[in-house]
Amino acid sequence: MKTGNAMILERQEHTSPAESVDEKLPIVCEGSVRRSKRKKEIARANHELEVRLFGKPFLRFANAQSLRYLVQVGFLLLTLWIGFEFVQFVNWAEAGGPGEPIARPQGVEAFLPISALISLKYWILTGVVNNIHPAGLVIFLSIVGISLVVRKAFCSWICPVGFVSESLALVGEKVFGRNLRVPRWLDYPMRSLKYLLLFFFLYTIFWGMNEVALKVFIYSPYNRVADIKMLKFFQGISPTALWTIFILAVLSIFVKHFWCRYLCPYGALLGLVGFLSPTKVTRNIPSCIDCELCTKACPAQIAVHKAKTVQSDECTSCLSCVDACPVADTLYLSVKKTRPLSPVRAAWAIVLILPLFMFLAKVTGNWYNAVSSQEYIHRVQEIHSPKYEHNRGQVPVEQDQFHQSGGD
Ligand code: SF4
Ligand code: SF4
Repeated sequence: MKTGNAMILERQEHTSPAESVDEKLPIVCEGSVRRSKRKKEIARANHELEVRLFGKPFLRFANAQSLRYLVQVGFLLLTLWIGFEFVQFVNWAEAGGPGEPIARPQGVEAFLPISALISLKYWILTGVVNNIHPAGLVIFLSIVGISLVVRKAFCSWICPVGFVSESLALVGEKVFGRNLRVPRWLDYPMRSLKYLLLFFFLYTIFWGMNEVALKVFIYSPYNRVADIKMLKFFQGISPTALWTIFILAVLSIFVKHFWCRYLCPYGALLGLVGFLSPTKVTRNIPSCIDCELCTKACPAQIAVHKAKTVQSDECTSCLSCVDACPVADTLYLSVKKTRPLSPVRAAWAIVLILPLFMFLAKVTGNWYNAVSSQEYIHRVQEIHSPKYEHNRGQVPVEQDQFHQSGGD
């Protein structure tokens, strides 16, 4: 004869994750006083969230995923808006700047991460925030700041590429019933690709460029219009680049977060920075019923059900595991493994760090660049000339480039 507890244990060991919770709870609810005590322990988790503004209820969400989705959509719209404004600005400059001036959105510098890394080293060496792409450096630092607080949350809450990648995986799941998992023996070496790319950029910039080389690059004609060059790259995209994007998109339909998991050097950097963050997904082992729903829900394929705290560099603080956990107070974000951090507070941190950095940059005069509209109008006319090309980081220089607007 098996005792009630033995039955419970047996059921936990042999049920599949998909059926486990709903199967387990009724068993626990039956019978003896000991079982009803167990029933109290297994209080069903309520994942509803309320966002309060000035102490008053403002928005309600079914769970952290709905809140995250709203934040993702918000940042995607912001990105599209910045893109739209930038196209307007470039069109205006190409037309010779007729009528009312159109302002260049500084936020476009978010798309110049290599220039931001160069600016970072230059800032570290000289204490000067260069005034060619200051916003790029500020945005980069704010993203690193987000990672110091809530790990790689930028990837799953803000990054438009991450959002598109996640949406493609969702399409794959809907159409084919599931996403594919790269076998572990292949997954590990493929994940290291993004670190190799990151190492390449860090090595080239932090080891390979001295102060003079950094200054030459920063004030070069190429870097002054690097944002416009990027726009021109996409407007006249080559078949090779288009095919590459297409292949990555198709792979992302079948394999969750293909680009982010295997190739994105930015994500690699944030994963490493995230190790310094005190915020981690934490599992309360005594109340955990080992249903494995958290692991099943994790898009980063982390074995959450085995961890006391999730340490993996792949964790993006997406909170899918937290939402999947059926037991109250069992899986949550916590600061230094002790203080639980509610998803709403985590979301506030994620959303507010960027504007906070932006505000500080504006106050200290490090947000707007010093390239004048007249200079943009002049340079955009000759943007296809060789002086705006670069060859593996080597850029043509202009005689007086350090004395033009923006030279420090
Ligand atoms: S461990 Fe949880 S928070 Fe981290 S990536 Fe997996 S599901 Fe998201
Ligand atoms: S932490 Fe994971 S395994 Fe434990 S109860 Fe929650 S979902 Fe199930």
